[in-house]
Amino acid sequence: MQELIDAALADIRLGTADGRSVCVTSSFQPECVVLTHLLVQDRPDIPVLFLDTGYHFPETYAYRDEIAARFHLNLVNLLPRQTVAQQESAFGILYQTAPDRCCALRKVEPLFAGVGEYGVWFTALRREQSPTRANLRIFEEFRLPGGKVLAKVSPLAGWDSTHVRQYLRQNSIPVLPLYDLGYTSVGCAPCTVRPADPDNPRSGRWVGQQKLECGIHISAG
Ligand code: SF4
Repeated sequence: MQELIDAALADIRLGTADGRSVCVTSSFQPECVVLTHLLVQDRPDIPVLFLDTGYHFPETYAYRDEIAARFHLNLVNLLPRQTVAQQESAFGILYQTAPDRCCALRKVEPLFAGVGEYGVWFTALRREQSPTRANLRIFEEFRLPGGKVLAKVSPLAGWDSTHVRQYLRQNSIPVLPLYDLGYTSVGCAPCTVRPADPDNPRSGRWVGQQKLECGIHISAG
């Protein structure tokens, strides 16, 4: 795996001459922590972009801070235009009435603005996570709404959850404590429960809604 990361970074070093630069997004799920750990071996200062929606579990914020301190991360918290209070005052509880709009305001907009500063975007997406990710490729092009095209790199595409857990154990890295309580995919607290289908780790996300993804990993192009 380190070879794959090194190869990607070597390609990117070539690209750096063209003004391309590198970031990784992290929601501090186990695979995000694995990828970040791998990347900081080569790039200790790589910007680690975290979408601070304001709706995360307290455990997620505490764990983010713990890992950021432990790895000495260059953590970048991406914030929506409005605070939770401002959004709820203006539009009500969107995660109940219009979750796509809520994700657009609190995740997609700030994320696209954040990654738009870079040329290469590392993600910890894995094919096993969801049927919507089954065809994920390690290297893809991603077009932002403004037209800029990023190189999107997902080195863990072929990893399964056992492999992820094994890596964390071997490197003595703790997991987000919610995983020990039965969660298998953790997003914003109001939209996350324990999985309904043991074979689909993301089946605890947006339960009761016709929604499988927040919209970030669907190409804007
Ligand atoms: S996951 Fe839920 S709370 Fe978070 S931004 Fe999307 S709809 Fe809103």
